[in-house]
Amino acid sequence: MSKAAKILPKPFIAYSRKNIINNRIVNTLPKDMVNEILAVSTVFPFRTNNYVIEELIDWDNIPNDPIFQLTFPTRDMLEKNDFDRVNRLLNLNAPEKKLLETVRKIQEKLNPHPASQMEMNVPVEDGEMMRGIQHKYEETALFFPSQGQTCHAYCTYCFRWPQFVGIDKLKFASSNSEQLVNYLTKHPEVTDVLITGGDPLFMSSKLLRRYIEPLIKKKPGNLSSIRIGTKVPAYWPYRFITDKDSDDLLRLFEEVVNSGLHLAIMTHYSHPRELKPSIAQQALQQILKTGAVVRCQAPIIRHINDDPELWATLWKVQVKLGAIPYYMFIGRNTGPKNYFKVPLSEAYHIFTKAYSSVSGLCRTVRGPSMSCTAGKVLISGIADIRDKKVFILKFIQGRDPKWANRTFFAQYDDDACWINELKPAFGETEFFYEKQLLGMKAKQPHYK
Ligand SMILES: *Cc1c(COP(=O)(O)O)cnc(C)c1O
Ligand code: SF4
Repeated sequence: MSKAAKILPKPFIAYSRKNIINNRIVNTLPKDMVNEILAVSTVFPFRTNNYVIEELIDWDNIPNDPIFQLTFPTRDMLEKNDFDRVNRLLNLNAPEKKLLETVRKIQEKLNPHPASQMEMNVPVEDGEMMRGIQHKYEETALFFPSQGQTCHAYCTYCFRWPQFVGIDKLKFASSNSEQLVNYLTKHPEVTDVLITGGDPLFMSSKLLRRYIEPLIKKKPGNLSSIRIGTKVPAYWPYRFITDKDSDDLLRLFEEVVNSGLHLAIMTHYSHPRELKPSIAQQALQQILKTGAVVRCQAPIIRHINDDPELWATLWKVQVKLGAIPYYMFIGRNTGPKNYFKVPLSEAYHIFTKAYSSVSGLCRTVRGPSMSCTAGKVLISGIADIRDKKVFILKFIQGRDPKWANRTFFAQYDDDACWINELKPAFGETEFFYEKQLLGMKAKQPHYK
């Protein structure tokens, strides 16, 4: 850590609805804008921090700055009616209970439980629900450690927002690392564990070690890779350099690698600016030095990164710094989706333009891809077939592994933003997998 050791530690300061006006930069914003932030953040989770505010946001370009949009709620994320309702209650200084009632009603309208995650992906063993595990694709099991269900800042577009505001009926979270080991032992088809959240790297290194060490020591079943899904390299790079337990974290990564397991840090970078500060680049170098591989993924989001040059830059910078572009996702149809949505056709054109301007080393990226109930569906092309304009779609992952790499066709639609807005291309009544998917749903004991 010779070079990195010169950086002064930075104490982490989280900002939320409760204390954001204490921040001296935010405090200089026009009063109306501050009030809008306070109003919209009654409905959506709001959390940012001193690094994002001081180093990432361009305060000369508010409210349009993409990094401002990334963590600060803005007025148009709510429909006008809903904004006015909340704003009125706040202006009247309405009782907390009344405010919460209204807020809950608005939240419930915003599709807070998309893609049947809880109903279909949580395994049941011997009649017991394996809280904290999701197993959708044979080879990869997701694990949600209960202490890793928060983040250093919240992305305004995050599809896990219901969890952060406490309306998810069952939280996907477990504090039981033994359960994961037992599950992997019983499921030899699983080669990859993806530890996710929230953000698992928000946890102390000591806690994270409690989950990872048993995997290193026991190598249950056919485990060969551990992945950690995180945005900490973007939101709090000090985590890898000057935090109290930075060294412990990097040693833990090394131990995983030295044990013979593959370690992939699945990093969420939304915008090239997140890789600009020297501290952010050094954080990435520290991770890579442990022998871990860094793969990068993010959704394409209006107001934040709906631009081909931006994506091309993002992938080029990632490759230059030693990371591997992995997925461009379509944002899920939940929360402030009307504000953030990018139609499938536009996302496809942005991806294609960016992809065609970078070298093969960047073209490890796949997308744009939708994570739907049936699987990960790639917008693979737009074509004219028998005088009909169609989307060529392709399963990257399928709930049934036989669907993987299978192509299918949907009627072209300029405005469609999600698979449920698409229709089969050639007069079929449904897509090839739909009947089978219904059967799978019917078999789930807790599917409603
Ligand atoms: C994306 C995803 C994975 C991992 O898929 P890969 O294509 O292997 O990266 C696993 N489980 C779920 C539920 C996912 O959405
Ligand atoms: S870092 Fe990830 S989990 Fe946290 S708010 Fe952003 S997208 Fe959601």
